[in-house]
Amino acid sequence: MKGENDPLAAFWMPFTANRAFKAHPRQLVSASGIYYQSADGRPILDGTSGLWCSNAGHCRREIVEAIARAAAALDFAPTFQLGHPQAFELAHRLAALMPEGLDRIFFTNSGSESVDTALKIALAIQRARGQGTRTRLIGRERGYHGVGFGGISVGGIVSNRRTFGGGLPGTDHLRHTHDLARNAFSRGFPQHGAELADDLERLVGLHGAETIAAVIVEPMAGSTGVLLPPAGYLERLRKICDRHGILLIFDEVITAFGRVGGATAADRWGVTPDVITMAKGLTNAAVPMGAVAVKREWHDAVIEGAPGGIELFHGYTYSGHPLACAAALAALDLYAREGLFERADALARYWEDAAHGLKGRRHVIDIRAIGLVAGIELEPRPGAPTARAMELFHACFDKGLLVRATGDIIALSPPLIVEKGEIDTMFETIGELLETIA
Ligand code: PMP
Repeated sequence: MKGENDPLAAFWMPFTANRAFKAHPRQLVSASGIYYQSADGRPILDGTSGLWCSNAGHCRREIVEAIARAAAALDFAPTFQLGHPQAFELAHRLAALMPEGLDRIFFTNSGSESVDTALKIALAIQRARGQGTRTRLIGRERGYHGVGFGGISVGGIVSNRRTFGGGLPGTDHLRHTHDLARNAFSRGFPQHGAELADDLERLVGLHGAETIAAVIVEPMAGSTGVLLPPAGYLERLRKICDRHGILLIFDEVITAFGRVGGATAADRWGVTPDVITMAKGLTNAAVPMGAVAVKREWHDAVIEGAPGGIELFHGYTYSGHPLACAAALAALDLYAREGLFERADALARYWEDAAHGLKGRRHVIDIRAIGLVAGIELEPRPGAPTARAMELFHACFDKGLLVRATGDIIALSPPLIVEKGEIDTMFETIGELLETIA
């Protein structure tokens, strides 16, 4: 309505309880390094890299300047039937960072677009291989693959799907691997649960391998609470995919660019998928961008399948946007120059010890940590699931610490520039506040 005087009313906020937020708004007005500043003038230690994305910390000068230069020199150029040097350079650089063989890169603008692109590419690969009956896409319970129709269909979160109709036909799901009874408080990869990969054999038996195009999993499920893969699980999934001609997609929107101490989880954990999705840390989150890396042989199969014509009828106006390419190139330089992926690895033990220091605190029923990511699972409050983690989130924010609440889990993923003292502060703050919440 014209003249409406509530300045917060118009913005329909994503994944937010809008009424509750607008009654007690919390806004961030600036950021530098590992700190945000809140609208009421307080520094907020960023324990989440924004949304798992500002891996080198905020407002890094090199990235800011690269974006400004790009905006002045070439603000936009199409990449349909045209191109610009930074897009080719970035693809070349990314190809070198990916696991051996995944050296063909498709650009998108977000994690959700990367997922939908990867699913479509998987279908295109199967057709190009003469396996056009393979159209079924398999995800996993508790998987988060963004909010496109493809992503919510293979995703395993019912609340993201139930409002929006039936989703893609012909999807199915593996069981999730989260098993508190067997794995609570384990260090590193959980020791129990590799056999859950055999769920794929069950789905092959149920549907027929000749109907299944691809399986998509997050190597470590992030958004549903930092669920680490059981030792041997990803290897087993890879073997079953190979046995049945099923493509394996790793959704590395969170895990790529250092979060688990390597360029990708695939590389760090030694399991090579056919396709990898990325976004978030690709540009250090300064400009939206995503990408999909594809094994060269699959790329070539699709290219050769359409001699002389357009090979893949897919793409976005902003695929390879010049400002995003500039930000990504500067971010990759920064990651390399400061050795941030190695830094995540070097700090991982300290981080894990600090996280596990919360064992025995009130409400805590599990702690999971790897690289520079951790999940602290709280016992659900009877009759009010998710309320306890939300209360802790608010208490932390009031104390100057940003954490993420997802279900009854507190997720932490600080910028990879985090110092030991800041790690101590994060877990001490959480430890103290756990004593104060109901
Ligand atoms: N896949 C995974 C694994 C994610 O964690 C996310 C975002 N948290 C997405 C996809 C979706 O990314 P976006 O929000 O950029 O669309």
